Amino acid sequence: MSWESSAEYYRLLNEEVRRRLGGHHCAPSLLLTVDFAEIEAMQRAGDWAGAGRRLARAARTLETGGAQMVLLCTNTMHKVADVIEADIGVPFVHIVDATAARIVEAGHRTVGLLATRFTMEMDFYRSRMRQHGVRLVVPEEPDRALVHDVIYQELTQSRIEDSSRRQYQRIIADLAERGAEAVILGCTEITLLIGADDSPIPVFDSTRIHVEHAVDLALG
Ligand code: GLU
Repeated sequence: MSWESSAEYYRLLNEEVRRRLGGHHCAPSLLLTVDFAEIEAMQRAGDWAGAGRRLARAARTLETGGAQMVLLCTNTMHKVADVIEADIGVPFVHIVDATAARIVEAGHRTVGLLATRFTMEMDFYRSRMRQHGVRLVVPEEPDRALVHDVIYQELTQSRIEDSSRRQYQRIIADLAERGAEAVILGCTEITLLIGADDSPIPVFDSTRIHVEHAVDLALG
């Protein structure tokens, strides 16, 4: 939901279409930015119903504007994906389905998850992964708090800190030791901090995977 990850989506979407179609091709798209302060306050208050209504309204606006599919550029707010999906008549491209498909294709079954506390601890993400046959390992406390705080206090405020990268690297190594065959960057801003070179195990970047999956669907 932060504009930092929206900007990343916008760049990746257009780069991916140009990579596939060449020339001056880009992705005809509508980008609707919701004020993240409003959504973040609803998350803290546990007002998921209100957030669902707000995001469904945004998705309808996109559909009215001509969008032929909708992407929600955050893992956390997929908690209300069903509400959004039920409210629009065009396909909703689900980030968990896209990420899980890539993990299964690579032959992994047990993977680590770095994400917000909501995504790591609530059931919506874990249960949908389980439906695809993917088992999740999440950091122990206090590392879950650290991962969450870096997202909200740094990455969604345009701060990229080497010290946080080192902490994330340590946490990824710990997940690997606890059986994770790979790690999901399950928050769409983590791609700004961590790349494949920062991890001893394969990295599944939900931002990039979500974009590539949408381009697959759009171009057929
Ligand atoms: N973008 C983040 C995610 O993928 C967290 C910020 C938010 O949308 O709440 O979960």
